[in-house]
Amino acid sequence: MPAAALPGRATASSNPDRIGLSGWGNYPKVSTELLAPRTPAGARDHLLGRSGVVARGAGRAYGDAAIGTHTTISTRGLNRMRSFDAASAELTVEAGVTIADILAAFEPRGFFLKVVPGTKFVTVGGAIAADLHGKNHHRDGGFGTIVESFRLALPGGEILSCSRAENAALFMATLGGMGLTGMILDATLRLLPIETAWLRQDTRVAGNLEAAIDQLESSASATYSVAWIDCLARGAALGRSLVYLAEHATRRDQELLGPELAPFPSPRMSRLSVPELFPGWLLNRASMRAFNELYFRRGAAQQGEQRLVHWDPYFFPLDAIADWNRIYGRRGFVQYQCVIPQAHARRVLADILDRVSRRGDASFLAVLKQLGDGGGPMSFPLRGYTLTMDLPVSDTLFAFLDELDALVVDAGGRLYLAKDARQSRATFESGYPGLAALRDIRQQTGATTRLVSHLSARLGI
Ligand SMILES: Cc1cc2nc3c(=O)[nH]c(=O)nc-3n(C[C@H](O)[C@H](O)[C@H](O)COP(=O)(O)OP(=O)(O)OC[C@H]3O[C@@H](n4cnc5c(N)ncnc54)[C@H](O)[C@@H]3O)c2cc1C
Repeated sequence: MPAAALPGRATASSNPDRIGLSGWGNYPKVSTELLAPRTPAGARDHLLGRSGVVARGAGRAYGDAAIGTHTTISTRGLNRMRSFDAASAELTVEAGVTIADILAAFEPRGFFLKVVPGTKFVTVGGAIAADLHGKNHHRDGGFGTIVESFRLALPGGEILSCSRAENAALFMATLGGMGLTGMILDATLRLLPIETAWLRQDTRVAGNLEAAIDQLESSASATYSVAWIDCLARGAALGRSLVYLAEHATRRDQELLGPELAPFPSPRMSRLSVPELFPGWLLNRASMRAFNELYFRRGAAQQGEQRLVHWDPYFFPLDAIADWNRIYGRRGFVQYQCVIPQAHARRVLADILDRVSRRGDASFLAVLKQLGDGGGPMSFPLRGYTLTMDLPVSDTLFAFLDELDALVVDAGGRLYLAKDARQSRATFESGYPGLAALRDIRQQTGATTRLVSHLSARLGI
């Protein structure tokens, strides 16, 4: 696979077998051998006899999770859909098939995925390995809840079928296990039948963080909910947000709100893209403040209206701009995502937002979501609130994030591994009590020294 075809930043290196590779945040960039098998059997063969190896899907993890310390195996060639049973809605696909592929094929036939992240450009293997969460985690759980089974290649070459009934401990440890239990070759997912592919959206304005959390709490029965926070607002407006609630629209909703619309509209293609040499300095406090103001006013004007929204911009707004990660310039950026247990969420998130707004370089909008209980021992979610924001890499950023980490640790929270590029071992270990279960499994399967990503080496997993 040519390096240029890989998302994240890939550059040629002086050693022809190795390239410089990064995650979606373009930080850090490290050297690795890159292999691109075309079949599950080929992927399994690449594991044999290798150490310091990990799988890579679409490279949408922000940091160093999908880069092997020696070798990275791209699953993009494992892109076949194998079978679909309309009666049970069970779909079997290879691990490199993306959520975009599945929605393009099945949304017109009246099926969706019950759990989707904020971008559709992730692979099924990456979705399982992160046990990713959507805007409905508090109600429906993580991606693992729609996974019936998968086949996992172990470092020694053995291929095991895993489900809640078969090799159950390995199944659970692989959810959120960040590729460190084995390589997922293919998986069977259960799709969600839908009457239309529109969302019935209800927008609410929250003047500050307290009001945003009140809104999310009082609408906990809504299927989807998310608050977009203006993280530059300060004082009494700290945490001012637009809260979006949504349900899959029924035929009846569509007849009432958009009778002229086709029930299953096609995906929207991205029309804009950010050039490779976009200068990072264009992103300054004034431009971000102006953007946030405009965004907030536009959203506030929709308050109180029930509207039908196309599934693509509702779930995947950032996908409309290709390569948007380039706006942070060459040094890249870090996406900071923490979860704070319910009991401490209001106090600690206010403290975090206050520090971030005073610092003034968090970009655009932060995202606040409610989470329910986690799936596997290494899954990120715990019952509480998760806050996500992008911060450009600078000389002072990491010391600042260490301060935020201390607040998170103190509150019994944790940071999301799929976004992480810099947390310390102490922060990580205090947040993930399920780590012992993952380490045990890695010991038993011989993965400890064989399956090693830059993330797992950094965190001592
Ligand atoms: C714009 C954007 C929005 C996002 N929104 C959300 C969100 O709302 N919720 C959320 O939870 N996440 C979100 N994410 C994070 C993203 O869902 C995860 O990082 C996901 O793991 C990316 O999948 P990928 O295919 O790109 O995997 P990669 O980034 O390539 O890899 C991620 C991890 O999965 C492992 N992996 C990949 N394929 C396999 C395989 N076949 N077998 C075993 N391990 C494998 C890798 O080793 C690595 O540890 C978002 C990311 C972006 C860029």
